[in-house]
Amino acid sequence: MALHDKTAHELHELLQTKQISAAELTADIFSRVDAAEDKIGAYLTLTREKALADAKAVDEKISRGEKIFPLEGIPCAVKDNICTKGIKTTCASKILENFIPPYDATAYKKLAAQNPILIGKANLDEFAMGGSTENSAYHVTRNPHDLERVPGGSSGGSAAAVAGGEAVFALGSDTGGSIRQPASFCGVVGFKPTYGRVSRYGLVAFASSLDQIGPLTRDVTDCALVLNAICGLDDMDSTSTAAQVPDFTKSLVADVKGLKIGLPAEYFVKGIDAEVEAAVRRVAKEYEKLGAEIVEVSLPHTEYAISTYYLIAPAEAATNLERYDGVSYGARVDGADVVEMMTNTRTEKFGAEVKRRIMIGNYALSAGYYDAYYLKALKVRTLIQKDFVDAFKTVDLILTPTTPNAAFKLGEMTADPLTMYLQDVCTVPVNIAGLPGISVPCGVNSQNLPLGFQLIGKALDEATILRAAFAYEQISD
Ligand code: GLN
Repeated sequence: MALHDKTAHELHELLQTKQISAAELTADIFSRVDAAEDKIGAYLTLTREKALADAKAVDEKISRGEKIFPLEGIPCAVKDNICTKGIKTTCASKILENFIPPYDATAYKKLAAQNPILIGKANLDEFAMGGSTENSAYHVTRNPHDLERVPGGSSGGSAAAVAGGEAVFALGSDTGGSIRQPASFCGVVGFKPTYGRVSRYGLVAFASSLDQIGPLTRDVTDCALVLNAICGLDDMDSTSTAAQVPDFTKSLVADVKGLKIGLPAEYFVKGIDAEVEAAVRRVAKEYEKLGAEIVEVSLPHTEYAISTYYLIAPAEAATNLERYDGVSYGARVDGADVVEMMTNTRTEKFGAEVKRRIMIGNYALSAGYYDAYYLKALKVRTLIQKDFVDAFKTVDLILTPTTPNAAFKLGEMTADPLTMYLQDVCTVPVNIAGLPGISVPCGVNSQNLPLGFQLIGKALDEATILRAAFAYEQISD
């Protein structure tokens, strides 16, 4: 197996025992980047010089006989909506084309404390709005498994980098599925932690009550290692939780005996591809064989999740994106007066999807419509949350497809925003309820495209998700 296809924990062993050097590993990843990036387009910015210098420092540490951190010297990608001090952070938008943050996002800062090697900033849908990475203002990203297809989104660059050997692991962000869906499309593991587990400080805000940062990795062990690095209370984010962060590697035990796993009828309905459904039901059978108990559960308000999400997320986005006015920071396009300047700036520098969300959001929040749309959506949000609370009275985990279908073709869904929104049907309820969820690969379909299943856990119970995901991984190939 090539170096650039190994997991972080395998590479850690090789580094610590001096079988490879961090410089060698970094060079290997960049040779892969040089060979593949033309086709895949996972990155917006490459940080080659910094990477080579950082790798050298790691090698010096190893040669001094010091112990290295689990992620030390491991090449990674960071989604370009996560602030990195001194390194361009564009959100794949023209409005932040030249934005160089003066500070690190807390999640990146915590990760960087372990000295991983940053390869670059990964492509995304502009401001993380989308499910295919086609909304990037710079270029599309292609799925390494089939270059005619999308990698998913919005963390499509992060997922494609990990799947394509251009990074060993990546950070993404998930507001309505943006870590789990691309993970599923690209055949990697993607985890959205409980809302509040990871600080949002320095994550450029899309929808603040839904956004979470999380890992995209080659296996469940790496996922636990990255979670260990990035979770925890942060004074800079008042919504981050003080709940104790366990050592997630302790959950890597291949034992699901006695676990109750719920299959919600509402996730196996018309619109879910037959091969996806069959794959997830096979996973349920495997869990049964491993000693878990599979039970039917009901999440009756699931059918309202898409409408609820596509009111709350745009409402929050419209508010958050008010700051890009051509004054405080970001790009400016001149005009005769201040109103014209702001109008020109926002007209020219925001892409079509971002404008659509701003308009939907402002409409839903406007006097006269607020009660009918935004307030109503908040009430339905409570019902969706309650569905999960009720289901988790009888089960430990909930098993669903991650996406209704495997990766679709580039251009296939761009004409109709609504069909694109429907892709999020299995993932948005998890954000609405603030719960943790993982996508784990479970084979390929008849076209050889990766499929994934989703495990949803109770709030702050990432540990049980990891335990079950790890158990499945041990028996799957
Ligand atoms: N696809 C969803 C959207 O377009 C989710 C995006 C995300 O999680 N950032 O809003």
